Amino acid sequence: MVSTFTRSALRVHGKTFWAGLLRASGLLYLARNWVRRRGAIVLTFHRVLTDSEVQQTASLPGMIVRSSTFSGFLKYAAQTSEFVDLSCDPEWQPSGKLKLAITFDDGWSDNATGAYPSARQYHAPIAIFIVPEKTGTTLPFWPERTAATMDRAAKDGSGRDTLYIERAIEALKELPASERELRIGRMASAPGVQSMGAAQAVASVDRTMSWQQIQELHSGGVTFGSHTSTHEILTTISAAQAEKEIVSSRDLIQEKLKVPCSLFSYPNGDCSPQVRGLVAAAGYKFAFLNQDPGVWTRDCDPFLIPRVNVCEYHLVDAKGNFSPLIFKYAVVWNAAKGLLAQMWKANRQKRKNKHQTGTPGLWKQSGKNQLEKPS
Ligand SMILES: [Zn+2]
Repeated sequence: MVSTFTRSALRVHGKTFWAGLLRASGLLYLARNWVRRRGAIVLTFHRVLTDSEVQQTASLPGMIVRSSTFSGFLKYAAQTSEFVDLSCDPEWQPSGKLKLAITFDDGWSDNATGAYPSARQYHAPIAIFIVPEKTGTTLPFWPERTAATMDRAAKDGSGRDTLYIERAIEALKELPASERELRIGRMASAPGVQSMGAAQAVASVDRTMSWQQIQELHSGGVTFGSHTSTHEILTTISAAQAEKEIVSSRDLIQEKLKVPCSLFSYPNGDCSPQVRGLVAAAGYKFAFLNQDPGVWTRDCDPFLIPRVNVCEYHLVDAKGNFSPLIFKYAVVWNAAKGLLAQMWKANRQKRKNKHQTGTPGLWKQSGKNQLEKPS
């Protein structure tokens, strides 16, 4: 099972070696304490799947955490950390424990069937960013449709070429939405590719939550935010379309759940100063990125809050079991490095402002630096 998620045994052992070295040097401990004093780590999950669902899904490994790993993580986090409830205003006083906020993007049905029961068991508040016009549908998003199409095209029995599919999806992300749809359509209708109907029957695991599931979770204390109306990457569409995605998704969630929708997450984490402005103007309170890892501190722009993306690879050891050491290395250590970059950028901006005005000015976060793509 572990081979589904780990790209090579050498990489896993290398990661474990570095993590062990950082722990032995005391740096992991120092990084954790530094992050603990400065703010909270907001984690981004997507899917929590059973082992049999992992075999059926078209989602890529970077989206998936196994159910047993998620439970192991929550058990550990409940003992060693403090969960942050995103439905409340953040508390900035340092805590004796590391603060963790748990979020999910996309609104997959496994959030209701897999993640929610575990979160309840460990009293972990969760926030789910949904795509209201894609609720209750199979293969709702183009990356899964692309992966499913490529799986159907590869019939030589050699198994899934994850790296190849990942690269194809990354290349498609760069295209304008209309061009991307055209290419995916062409790929799906190519000779030799089985019908999408057959794929959908197999991939019923790849469904989003229905409104009924969303309402049940809402009644159970889950916070819902918007992830746009249709999950378009907001930097690849016109400002008018982006505004519609941002505003009408909020309206629909509020209409269905009868509570204010104050949280937003950018699809694919892609943002621009213009998109940020549209989200702020729409009346959201907080908006979350998902590219460069970082820490949510008091100094963060409320519409450019960094998160740390988490998948199975960030949580398990070489045997596939949840590992606190790997979590500290792949999540906390990376968040600390991101925080260092945030502070460096803030200081640079402060110096720039001072230089321009001749007086020490307040740092105004433009969000520009957050737009850099991860390596
Ligand atoms: Zn998404």
